[in-house]
Amino acid sequence: VRGIDVHAHFLPAAWLERVAAGEWPEVASVGEDDVARAGQERVRLTKAFTDLASAIDGLQLRLLSIPPPLMAYEAPPQAAAEYCAAFNDALVAAADASERALALATLPMQDGEAAANELKRARSLGCVGAQIGAHVRGHGLGDAEVRPVLRAAAETGSLLLVHPYGQPDDVQLRRLHLQQLVAWPLQTTVAAVGLIFAGVVAELDRLKMVLAHGGGTLPYLLGRLDRGYEVHADIGEVVPEPPSMSAARFYYDSVVFEPEALRFLVRSVGASRVLLGSDYPFPTSLPDPLAALDEAGLGSDEIALITEENARSLLELSR
Ligand SMILES: [Zn+2]
Repeated sequence: VRGIDVHAHFLPAAWLERVAAGEWPEVASVGEDDVARAGQERVRLTKAFTDLASAIDGLQLRLLSIPPPLMAYEAPPQAAAEYCAAFNDALVAAADASERALALATLPMQDGEAAANELKRARSLGCVGAQIGAHVRGHGLGDAEVRPVLRAAAETGSLLLVHPYGQPDDVQLRRLHLQQLVAWPLQTTVAAVGLIFAGVVAELDRLKMVLAHGGGTLPYLLGRLDRGYEVHADIGEVVPEPPSMSAARFYYDSVVFEPEALRFLVRSVGASRVLLGSDYPFPTSLPDPLAALDEAGLGSDEIALITEENARSLLELSR
């Protein structure tokens, strides 16, 4: 078995029981066959979300994180902090029961200081990093509100998986899964470019920031961003280099569903910046993430980096 999948979702049963018991009614609740963020999105509860054996099947190692609709950044901060801490405790306990699972924490990002503290606590428990939203209630990842979390992640060497989150206001995007298929990848793009344009490019090198879904639409827009950098002097006042160079300071998962797109991603940012991902067990996951690497026609060295070696060095794993 080979492969380290950095993007997969899981719900520890011990935590789910506490949500079902109504411990944090203002944050989330469990229904007949789903779990819902208060008044908003739902995640349909299938066995795959709670069955650890199937979650790690076929891979050497999988990083497990909360299904993003349940990150609950709109909830009252205190309740959210308790909800996240309980999730992280239960996730670490579940991951500890397997040699092939690692935990990515969830953080109460509505309070940057609390989120930074929870990241440090989660790291001390054994989480290898955290999954964070591509925005926090409309704030970008370069905004002051989020800085304590980025600082804590740099200090603790934590991996940060940046994942889209939430319902867009635009009614056009509410039809036929447009949110999931179009708005979410765009969110990730906006998050990454927002960070670059926040003038914190040098800081990115101290972060292990992984952009979900191959960076959304970012790789495809690099030419346009560089052109904008050339013609708009005000960008150059803040950003010290062409955006395509900054983009290679992030990491990217391989969840793009199209061999040519994966090749393009690898050519754009380099194989040393791409990590295996699956988005398991959502319906829009890659059914066979390892086969997708083969189908992209990458070199064996590139495949080795993406399959395991990059993740190993990012996570400082031996073996
Ligand atoms: Zn995902």
